[in-house]
Amino acid sequence: MKYQSFLIKYAEIGTKGKNRYLFEDALIRQIKIALKRVEGTFLASKESGRIYVQTTGDYDYDEVIEALKKVFGIAWICPVVQSEQKGFESVRRAVLDYVGEVYPNRPFTFKVDSRRADKTYPIHSEDINRELGAAILAAYPQTSVDVHNPDVRIHVEIRKVVNIFSLMIPGPGGMPVGTNGKAMLLLSGGIDSPVAGYMIARRGVKIDAIYFHAPPYTSDRAKQKVIDLARIVARYSGPIPLHVVNFTDIQLYIYEKCPHEELTIIMRRYMMRIAETIATANDARALITGESIGQVASQTVPSLAATNEVCTLPVFRPLIAFDKQEIVNIAERIETFETSILPYEDCCTIFVAKHPVIKPNINCIRKSEGNLRENIDELVKTAIDTEEVIWCEAK
Ligand code: ATP
Ligand code: MG
Repeated sequence: MKYQSFLIKYAEIGTKGKNRYLFEDALIRQIKIALKRVEGTFLASKESGRIYVQTTGDYDYDEVIEALKKVFGIAWICPVVQSEQKGFESVRRAVLDYVGEVYPNRPFTFKVDSRRADKTYPIHSEDINRELGAAILAAYPQTSVDVHNPDVRIHVEIRKVVNIFSLMIPGPGGMPVGTNGKAMLLLSGGIDSPVAGYMIARRGVKIDAIYFHAPPYTSDRAKQKVIDLARIVARYSGPIPLHVVNFTDIQLYIYEKCPHEELTIIMRRYMMRIAETIATANDARALITGESIGQVASQTVPSLAATNEVCTLPVFRPLIAFDKQEIVNIAERIETFETSILPYEDCCTIFVAKHPVIKPNINCIRKSEGNLRENIDELVKTAIDTEEVIWCEAK
């Protein structure tokens, strides 16, 4: 079937009252970004309180649906057949062709739901429903009418052109990216943080990302893996600027001066501090991590409290109460999993102690950090000043 247009239905953004247009405009912007990756000519626009993607020329249907399924804010995608001819006989023929092609030889119950947006149209909706219903029954005897709970609702809208649609393909839900500010995702090469970024982007938040690497202890391959992950998340969130911060000297200094069982916590605290500074400089008003209670020693409640203590920005931890398997399920669905499980070195694991603290005492941690007094400010400043920013487009 050749669909000329896609009707985009949105859920939550419909409830935003006066600001609704901002949400609609953001949704259109995100649809345009997503469709740039699909061959063909597409026009996304608002028309009488609705969003349509109009197509001209050839395109690959599956690719369009795949792209639209990644645009947050879309609740349903309805492929629409359009008929320019509005005479009733033409409409009848178009509807019969539509039903024959979309539901070949299948028994189903249906209801015709027509609307006359063009009030000059000579036939009333109820008569259109009745006439078209009768025509479908006659042409396809395996069908029957059920006005209360039909398998298929056939929408026929008489507007400037006639729209015919019945399919509703679920979108990803959420809100259009860009409608809820910006946050900085601490993105490692693991399974969790890409999922965390995806979940917050789904709430309409634009994402910047930050990665701490420790060459030569972590390789270029590990860094490339993080870039690849950012590019997968970018399929949903739009392009992600990835801030790459060299953490080696800070890490070595902590290793030299602090008790080794506290290393991970102290390193995490410096990551959060640096992330916060770079977030603020880039107008991001929150941090995002992939932490989940109890997953590792640095994620017990006392450890999380110790890490959190150094931040004043809100820290979003969307996976906090998820089991690992639940996180893996999402990672597989959004297609980050395969990349996340590739072998790589992580600066958190290279310097990790055999027996890290699981109940860090904040006073002890602060005291240990006191050992860093001499050089740490300078090292942090250098790390921030020498950040590299990599623009990660969807791939
Ligand atoms: P992930 O699977 O996301 O790496 P993890 O279970 O390995 O998480 P940790 O290594 O303790 O957990 O990291 C906790 C969180 O800290 C990560 O989810 C991520 O947000 C952040 N993080 C850890 N290491 C880095 C890094 N090298 N660069 C940026 N962020 C990091
Ligand atoms: Mg990790």
